[in-house]
Amino acid sequence: MGNRAVFLDRDGTINEEMGYVNHLERFILLPQVGQAIRLLNQHGLKAVVITNQSGVARGYFPESLVHRVHQKMQDLLRMEGAHLDGIYYCPHHPDVGDPPYRQKCQCRKPATGLIEEAVRDLNIECPRSYMIGDRGIDIEFARRFGAKGVLVLTGYGKGEWEFLRDQWNVKPDHIAPDLYEAVQWILLQEGER
Ligand SMILES: [Mg+2]
Ligand SMILES: [Zn+2]
Repeated sequence: MGNRAVFLDRDGTINEEMGYVNHLERFILLPQVGQAIRLLNQHGLKAVVITNQSGVARGYFPESLVHRVHQKMQDLLRMEGAHLDGIYYCPHHPDVGDPPYRQKCQCRKPATGLIEEAVRDLNIECPRSYMIGDRGIDIEFARRFGAKGVLVLTGYGKGEWEFLRDQWNVKPDHIAPDLYEAVQWILLQEGER
């Protein structure tokens, strides 16, 4: 049998929504994120970040900054005894900037290219997996690859839920105030607590 995974959006879900994290100093973990990811680690669910970083295509920051931010994310989590099993990002945008970053790629959420990569790398079973994010597209994305979708009310979550939910084709399976509560709900579904 394959692995269960909890796929995690980055900005607004793990770290404070800043518009664009265009400097290392703008990456700030949200409260209890370390604890939440540590729980996933302890219960044997793969914790995998899937993030759109179109700021690269837009020319706001170099791709090397994305790598440095992800190193900082792992370092901050490690200090709390937690780790991510994978980090996948899309640097593209379909119509802004210059090639090769300007392209109609298969990896920009809600397209599922990054999930296919993660599934291969980590032997993940999508129907037994979850996606947590702060935007409607994260929930749409979950539906597209056959996982359950949890909306968190951090980041853009509260505003998207209040003002945009009527426009959503896909409803979240659960709504949680933050990542820690989202993980608690998932562990309950999985009979892990
Ligand atoms: Mg987000
Ligand atoms: Zn892409």
